[in-house]
Amino acid sequence: MIPVARPYLPRREKLDAYLDGIYECNVLTNNGPLVQELTRRLRDYLDVEHLLLVGSGTLALQVAYRALGVSGRDDRPQAITTPLSFVATASSLKWEGVEPVFADIDTETWCLDPDSIPPLVGGRTRAVVPVHLFGNACDTEAIEAVAAAHGLPVIYDGAHAFGARYRGASLLARGDATTVSFHATKAFHTVEGGAIVFRREADLARARTLINFGQAGPDQIEGVGINAKMSELQAAMGLCVLDEIEACLEPRREAWHAYVEELQTRACLQRMNGGLEHHSYVYFPVAFADEAQMQRVKDALLAAGVGARRYFFPALDRIPELNPERPASRTAGDLAARLLCLPLGSGRDATERVLKTLRAVLPGLGKAAGDG
Ligand SMILES: *Cc1c(COP(=O)(O)O)cnc(C)c1O
Repeated sequence: MIPVARPYLPRREKLDAYLDGIYECNVLTNNGPLVQELTRRLRDYLDVEHLLLVGSGTLALQVAYRALGVSGRDDRPQAITTPLSFVATASSLKWEGVEPVFADIDTETWCLDPDSIPPLVGGRTRAVVPVHLFGNACDTEAIEAVAAAHGLPVIYDGAHAFGARYRGASLLARGDATTVSFHATKAFHTVEGGAIVFRREADLARARTLINFGQAGPDQIEGVGINAKMSELQAAMGLCVLDEIEACLEPRREAWHAYVEELQTRACLQRMNGGLEHHSYVYFPVAFADEAQMQRVKDALLAAGVGARRYFFPALDRIPELNPERPASRTAGDLAARLLCLPLGSGRDATERVLKTLRAVLPGLGKAAGDG
C-alpha cells in the first residue's frame, strides 16, 4: 500500500555515527549537545530567532498556550480557532482547560476567516489560534489586526508550515508564537517532536522552564511545569533529516506539481495566499464535487493500493467531545466531507498510479481543458 505520507529515512551510517557519539558521551536527554545543535541549525535553516525544541507538535501547542498565559488559569478561558484542522489544534486547548470556540474558514484558502473572529470575541476570550492549513499561509495581517484590536495573542499552529516563507521572511516568525510538528509523517521530522517559535525572548525563557517540570535551576521551582523535552535520540534523527532536507522534499515537490498540473482545471484545489513564497509540500488536498465522488475516488485508490486519507474529517466543530457551543460551520462541514489528501513522497511510480486511477474514476480528467 502506498501510504499518504511516507516517513523519510535518512542514511543509516549518519544516524549510526550520532548514536556512537551518544554512547561515547552518555548524554541521552535534558537539553544535551544534539538538542542544542539541532536548535542552532533549525534557527538558521528556518530563519527564526527564538526557537524551543519539544517532545511533539501537540506539546508545542500546550506549552505555547501556557507560556503566553492562555491556559493555566481558573477563569474558564476561551480561544477562537478554526473548525478545519487536525484534531490536536482544538483538543490541546481542551486538554489545557481552554474552551475552543470555532470560527469559520475562508472558502478558497480554507484557513481561518478573519471576518468570522470579531463576533465571537467575549469577556473570556484569551487567544486566537489559526492554522496554516496544508502549508497555506493564513491571512496573517488581517488576523493579527483583529487580535490586536482586542488585545489578544495569536498562536499559529504551523504544523504544516515547516520552512514556509511569507513576504520575504519566515512564516513561522509571525504572531506571538508559532508551533511546528516534527512527527514522522510530516516532511521534516525527529520521529516524534516539535518546536515553538516565540516572538519574544522572555516567552521562550518561560517556556524553557515549563518544559522541564518548572525547574528554573537546581533546587528552584518556578510554577507548575511538565516534561516536554526532546531527547538526544530524536535530535540525532532531526540532524540527519535536516542534512538531507532537499532529498526529502524533492519527491514531494515533484508529486505536488504533477498533481496541480493534472487537477487544477478539473477539481477544486486550495487557493494559495499570494504572499506565500516557499511551500512545505506536507499534504496535497483535493476537494471533490461532493462526498459521494470523494468516496468513489477513495475506494478506487484503495483498490489500486493507494492509501489516500480523509484529512481532515469530521470538521472539529462537529466533534461532541470538543463541545462546540455554536451551530457548526456549513462551509467547513461541506468542505471536510469532500476532502481527500493524495500521497506525497513515495516516488514517480506512486504519483502516476494515483493519477491513472483518478483519470479512470473522474470523467474528463486526462483530456485537455476545454475538450469537454
Ligand atoms: C500533526 C499535527 C499536530 C500534532 O503534531 P504531533 O507532533 O503529531 O503531536 C498538530 N496540529 C496539526 C495541524 C497537525 O497536522
